[in-house]
Amino acid sequence: MKIIKTVEEMRQYSRQCRQRGLRLACVPTMGYLHEGHASLISAARHSHDEVVTSIFVNPTQFGPHEDFERYPRDFDRDHRVVDQAGGTVIFAPSVDEMYPLGASTSIAVRGVSEPFEGAFRPGHFTGVATIVARLLLAIEPDAAFFGAKDFQQTLVIRRMVHDLGIASDVIVLSTIREADGLAKSSRNVYLTADQRHRATALYRALRAAEDAIHDGAYQKQIIDNAMHDVLRSVDGIEIDYASAADASTLATPDIFEAGARIVCLIAVRLGSTRLIDNMEFTIGMKA
Ligand code: AMP
Repeated sequence: MKIIKTVEEMRQYSRQCRQRGLRLACVPTMGYLHEGHASLISAARHSHDEVVTSIFVNPTQFGPHEDFERYPRDFDRDHRVVDQAGGTVIFAPSVDEMYPLGASTSIAVRGVSEPFEGAFRPGHFTGVATIVARLLLAIEPDAAFFGAKDFQQTLVIRRMVHDLGIASDVIVLSTIREADGLAKSSRNVYLTADQRHRATALYRALRAAEDAIHDGAYQKQIIDNAMHDVLRSVDGIEIDYASAADASTLATPDIFEAGARIVCLIAVRLGSTRLIDNMEFTIGMKA
């Protein structure tokens, strides 16, 4: 596997691939890779000759009191995961390489970035949009793969790629979960055994929303209540939000129309660890 650390080398490599007629995909990550990342890498490899996995813990998407410093990092382990998943390149630039003169330029996506995560993590999506644009300009991939685990992020990235006319397809794949339903996340290592057990409430809450929708609910409040009831029944969970929203715009009408695609979005804190999850449904039909 090839390891690339500079933007210059990355761009040269990508251009050589294109000259040889190879199709190139990228999977942007912050490392500490798990089966969720591996599923993106192997799907990307299925349809592309070369897959660049970027590993970069992006400081500009963390708030001042968030976990940038303690975010888990293990390059050797990541190398093995990428290799086993069929990745061909790791792009692992330094912070100075990505922000050589500091961070004066940023990309703010209005609208879909504002509610939910955007309200609880001011500046987060500007950091995300900026680094993803920076990576796509360096890698120039035919396609970039993202996980539905970060649902709102996928809307922000799709919008940014569309608005800036970036010539990469955005492909979103489903969330990979543990056997008990907890979405795989690099941040799960922060959880104590007890918190890990409680964390299954997110999945159970989403399933409760599904049951409510299956039973015919179309009012946002009823779907939200189904999630809140499950989350509130577990000690030590603090809810940032648990809400149904339109899956394309994140609008939150009181009533969803039959056939509407919605997403149920959850963010909670368990001690100092913040977890997010989501599921998409169609109103009036089982998911
Ligand atoms: P991260 O390293 O957490 O920034 O995630 C990098 C990419 O992997 C993002 O597109 C995430 O949405 C995706 N991802 C993270 N966890 C999962 C998961 N459990 N299933 C599928 N994709 C995931």
